[in-house]
Amino acid sequence: MSASEDYAPQGSVLVGPGCWVPSCNFEPRKNDGKIDLLLLHYTATPTNDYALELLTTKAGGVSSHYLIDGEGCILQLVSEEQRAWHAGEASWAGERDINSCSIGIEIQNQGAALARVPEYGRAQMQAVLALCKDITTRYNIAPSRVLAHSDVAPLRKQDPGAHFNWELLAQHGVGIVVSPHCEPDGVLAIKTADELLSLQSDLAAIGYGATTSGEMDPLTVAVITAFQRHYRPALVDGVADRSTVEAISLLLEAIEA
Ligand SMILES: [Zn+2]
Repeated sequence: MSASEDYAPQGSVLVGPGCWVPSCNFEPRKNDGKIDLLLLHYTATPTNDYALELLTTKAGGVSSHYLIDGEGCILQLVSEEQRAWHAGEASWAGERDINSCSIGIEIQNQGAALARVPEYGRAQMQAVLALCKDITTRYNIAPSRVLAHSDVAPLRKQDPGAHFNWELLAQHGVGIVVSPHCEPDGVLAIKTADELLSLQSDLAAIGYGATTSGEMDPLTVAVITAFQRHYRPALVDGVADRSTVEAISLLLEAIEA
């Protein structure tokens, strides 16, 4: 793995000299090249070097456009015009090839390997914010399409986790946060199949790959959990309590406004 000096990857001006670490895991985008989604991840690795190995080598088999290390240094691994391999099996708003329409940012964090996902450091979050703002501005990505890996793959993924600072991003116009008035209480607020169907429809309208089964099936619980992790992180339990139902309505209103 050696940095190619005569190749300037398409990407952010925030990537400093010597921070281009080319991955061998990429291919041409399979759509018309349109980029309209930003996907955030944690690496779930003990060290940044190990994350870099997974994200750049053939044996690792995955990649992202960017990796932000624990100190907030931004590395670029794949040129933005290329399709990086970070989303896996996923869906959002009916689109299943998330890798083709997105930019992927991996953030060094040990993740769910520990009992509690470690906090993201201040310098690291500032770098995440700056890079996200740069990307969403250049591609005019809607706030509602700045997403967690767990949003697009709710049955498989938890990253970047409930401790990720979405609030900081939203304060700078990146992504959306909502503030329900109801306190989280973990008490199911959905009483009838019609109410559940309505909730599932709202989650699907937001973009989640939710079923409209009218039943509290495993996918519905996973989607509610993913929603909470991103938009109502005070209690992530998969239970559609009053606060969660309110937060879903608030998000839908914000998207449709
Ligand atoms: Zn991920």
